[in-house]
Amino acid sequence: MTSLRAEEDRSLPDTEVKDPPLPGEAARESIEVENPATGKVVGTVPRLTPADVGELASRARAAQPGWEAMGFEGRATVLLRAQKWLLDNSRRAIDTIVSETGKTYEDAQTAEIGYAVPAFGFWVKNAPKFLADERVRSGSPFLMGKRVAMRYRPLGVVGVIGPWNYPLTNSFGDCIPALAAGNAVILKPSEITPLTSLLMGEMLEECGLPEGVYQVATGLGDVGAELIDHVDFVMFTGSAATGRKVAERAARTLTPVGLELGGKDPMIVLADADLERAANAATWYSMQNGGQTCISIERVYVEESVYDEFVKLVSEKVGELRQGVPAGPGSVDVGAVTFGPQAEIVDAHVKDAVAKGARVAVGGHLKEGPGRFYEPTVLLDVDHTMLCMTEETFGPTLPIMKVGDADEAVRLANDSRYGLQASVWTRDTIRGEAIAARIESGVANVNEHSMNYFALEAPMGGWKESGLGSRHGPGGIRKYARKQVSVISRFGLKRELFMFPYSKRNAKLLAGALKLLHGRGKR
Ligand code: NDP
Repeated sequence: MTSLRAEEDRSLPDTEVKDPPLPGEAARESIEVENPATGKVVGTVPRLTPADVGELASRARAAQPGWEAMGFEGRATVLLRAQKWLLDNSRRAIDTIVSETGKTYEDAQTAEIGYAVPAFGFWVKNAPKFLADERVRSGSPFLMGKRVAMRYRPLGVVGVIGPWNYPLTNSFGDCIPALAAGNAVILKPSEITPLTSLLMGEMLEECGLPEGVYQVATGLGDVGAELIDHVDFVMFTGSAATGRKVAERAARTLTPVGLELGGKDPMIVLADADLERAANAATWYSMQNGGQTCISIERVYVEESVYDEFVKLVSEKVGELRQGVPAGPGSVDVGAVTFGPQAEIVDAHVKDAVAKGARVAVGGHLKEGPGRFYEPTVLLDVDHTMLCMTEETFGPTLPIMKVGDADEAVRLANDSRYGLQASVWTRDTIRGEAIAARIESGVANVNEHSMNYFALEAPMGGWKESGLGSRHGPGGIRKYARKQVSVISRFGLKRELFMFPYSKRNAKLLAGALKLLHGRGKR
């Protein structure tokens, strides 16, 4: 496996891959990894090409049967060691994440380490349960006296293609259940943030993972595209546009895909909401991770009678946020824009809104370098003609819109091609739940926004263009397995009633049996 070297200064680990992933390779092109908060290069990784992917896949296929044969217990030993490694080395992992994303220490600690550490325990504990052999009870008369069994077998090789916003949670996080199910995994991280995925390789190697079971395909988008042709399942997280390309490519080989795509999460604040809590939540869930979270609050609808008060509270809170180069715990609240073109998208959305009549209450500008920072921004007087209310902004912006009532808020919340998450804020939680149920999204919370992501027991997936399938819950690991059914006859008849030769007597018997079983009861 590739290995990493971290230098003394923990806030800026200088990371370098020592061993190229493919043996016998001459010097290859590399990718420079930049810290978006400082503009400095913090590491280089090999730039694999599509031609390299077949070799990785062959290695994965060769390694997978041994990993599967270790059983749940053997795999648990390795994965629990990895959990401990990540806990013991959390500072190093956080520093690596911070150095390649420019996010704050806390954003890495809460939503990356705080996700991955429990995830190991969750999948180790539940994999044997979710993937246990099942006895199927059939009501069919044809199966009387026979046993129907169902078992799950690993798919083989899973390809995970990840984005740059959460190099641990959204890239490596999907590898954990895939590995626990007995698959080999090839992870294609974003070219912008490959260091964390490589660090996880070092971790797994130290924890005894057999070689070839987890490999990192550092490269550009074409490597991700090629990977699709070589694996048995693709778990993709990223933009809807690329997700569509992934699904199209996978269709060629009929490879199943899971897609976790973009969102435009609405927050609905009703007149009876606890405004202080709602304002704190609006601020945190829109600005946390610099707003670069698929399940961040991207737009707010507030009932007229509390609109002014809510805007005042949010504007004050957003205005007080400290932004800058993350330098350890407590240093700043909002970090950098990880991906260069994203800063242009954020700026374009703000400019589009202003050109169409919106007012900037706080922020509104891309800061001067070095480092790439967009000011935490609150937009008012917005409507659905503006990009900031309809397209994924994926930055530290919060547009707030006044609505007449809850019905208008629900109508506007549903006026979107996305349907990832949503939240309703009210002291009347029964009404809140009823309103949440009318929102077209995979998750609709009440007085919470995206806390469900930590509930690994519950499925998390988008409706509409926000995705296909889900992660977490029993389905979050069963998708990495093939189902196999067996009907087992121990004391079967020499000749079943429906077999040759056909006779009038048997046809009559079967007709009678069907009538007896299905012909009774009122219709
Ligand atoms: P993409 O969706 O383009 O990239 C996600 C991953 O897919 C990256 O690893 C990328 O590699 C890879 N990739 C690119 N092209 C292909 C392809 N044809 N086949 C297979 N894999 C491919 O995200 P971007 O980084 O370009 O971000 C664009 C937008 O996506 C953002 O503006 C944001 O709105 C949204 N987004 C949503 C995220 C989410 O969590 N739902 C996360 C990140 C972005 P490489 O990086 O090397 O090009």
